[in-house]
Amino acid sequence: MAQSVAQPTATTPAVPAQLPIGAIAPWAVFFGILMLVLLYFVGAEQGATSLVSGEGVHEWVHDARHLLGFPCH
Ligand SMILES: [Zn+2]
Repeated sequence: MAQSVAQPTATTPAVPAQLPIGAIAPWAVFFGILMLVLLYFVGAEQGATSLVSGEGVHEWVHDARHLLGFPCH
């Protein structure tokens, strides 16, 4: 009993979708700034560079700080 294998039938070549850079750029800038703020809170929110008083933020991101290799204690 022979099995038939489906063969591709499309004859037109695949064309990659066009990505408008003007629509993507604002989101890229937004997420870039968001990541920099997150990196600040994980890596530098401690001691003299601290924006928030107390140890709350430091303790909250403490595991991420050690995971990323930032000096801590
Ligand atoms: Zn630590």
